[in-house]
Amino acid sequence: MPLDTPTLHDQHGRWPQAENVEDFRRNLAAVRARIAAACERVGRDAAGVRLLPVSKTKPEATLRLAYAAGCRDFGENKPQEAYGKWEAMTDLADLRWSVIGHLQTNKAKLVARFAAEFQALDSLRVAQALDRRLQAEGRGLDVFVQVNTSMEASKYGLPPDEVAAFLRALPAFSSLRVRGFMTLAVLSAQAAQVRQCFVRLRELRDRLRQETPGGMSLDELSMGMSGDYEIAIEEGATVVRVGQAIFGARATSNDYYWPSAPEGEAR
Ligand SMILES: *Cc1c(COP(=O)(O)O)cnc(C)c1O
Repeated sequence: MPLDTPTLHDQHGRWPQAENVEDFRRNLAAVRARIAAACERVGRDAAGVRLLPVSKTKPEATLRLAYAAGCRDFGENKPQEAYGKWEAMTDLADLRWSVIGHLQTNKAKLVARFAAEFQALDSLRVAQALDRRLQAEGRGLDVFVQVNTSMEASKYGLPPDEVAAFLRALPAFSSLRVRGFMTLAVLSAQAAQVRQCFVRLRELRDRLRQETPGGMSLDELSMGMSGDYEIAIEEGATVVRVGQAIFGARATSNDYYWPSAPEGEAR
């Protein structure tokens, strides 16, 4: 029987704010239950799905509540904002920071200093800038190659047909550990269109796996957010990036993160 899981995009802007540890515990439990149910529908083990709470726009005090409720990973879209929070929270030694938004080369220095993971790699210029800074810091970084599966000009990420060549160039940057792919689906209430984006990412990964340079793993698929993570899991997501369903609705609109025309930064 075909899966007909709906999106939750109609919830947008209506997620209640998490204001105390109890709210976070409840929201996390609800999301984990939905993750488990999605895994169940397709016969997957829920242990194979990592929940990455996305804390962008939320203040440090709120992140500390989430931490108290058990969060140890935070995803942030803007490098500067992430860096500021990391600096303010170094007392929490077991936090892992994941930068999930577009990076300009002049911010690579920040990311190299504190991030455990960068999920939006889509240019060799950024790979080179990160690698240089990481070498200087004596650090490594897990990276995900961002792929534009929705074919919208407004989205960051490489077109699927450029990914193979991009992967072949990455071994030159030895501090970057390639883990897999990341994508944003079309922001639509049309579940079939959303699902198609996730299928595209998985199929691309399955195809390229056979020809990846030695030592490179493409095990991870980071796909799915508050409005569509259940569908993403049904299609193979190993990481879901969930903000509003855990933290509550954001005041800033999505346009702030995915501008209708990306800045004119050359690849
Ligand atoms: C904000 C963001 C998310 C999470 O979106 P929610 O609607 O808050 O779940 C996921 N991925 C990226 C790249 C983001 O910037």
